[in-house]
Amino acid sequence: MIIILLGPPGAGKGTQCERLIERYKIVQLSTGDMLRAAVAAGTELGIQAKSVMDAGELVSDDLVVGIIADRIEEPDCANGFILDGFPRTVAQAEALDAMLAKKGLKLDHVISIEVDESALFARIEQRAAETGGARSDDNAETLKKRLVVYHEQTAPIIPYYRNKGALKVVDGMQEIEAVSKDLYAILD
Ligand code: ADP
Repeated sequence: MIIILLGPPGAGKGTQCERLIERYKIVQLSTGDMLRAAVAAGTELGIQAKSVMDAGELVSDDLVVGIIADRIEEPDCANGFILDGFPRTVAQAEALDAMLAKKGLKLDHVISIEVDESALFARIEQRAAETGGARSDDNAETLKKRLVVYHEQTAPIIPYYRNKGALKVVDGMQEIEAVSKDLYAILD
């Protein structure tokens, strides 16, 4: 099963992914986590990505497309995967389509978690408090920029998938458990 979870920063993609990987025995591929791991490891890629991420901007399409193309070749992806934070631009969505076609794979579900944006600042603030500020982009100023970037560059992939008839929507303003139930209803 191949799933894409869409939604703005703070929509709850990470939280729901944890539950989905457990239930469906598939892996989560989060480009944000992969980039943060590269930053923490101090690799060349991480050094390049850090300033871009801290500014709330997107790293280049080529870079993340390369990361995902390599990652989906790994044996643990054979049973399926959830993409979290990728694709984030129409160019990335097109690159993904080409990648899957080449491997003879098909996308099973594209699900958008919709939230009221006024709630996102409080959620990100809470995450920053709970993690002791582990993510340097979890602050109000960077979040504002991340939301602008989301609307300009990522939101256009919603009509991209809707036009293909592949999009489903879940209300992300509900309790965590209720959001999960809606996701299971789509995926079971
Ligand atoms: P969130 O979903 O909370 O916005 P992520 O953890 O998915 O955050 O991503 C954090 C940052 O990593 C982004 O703001 C961006 O700089 C970078 N990033 C992650 N995924 C991508 C991607 N697919 N394309 C470009 N940049 C990305």
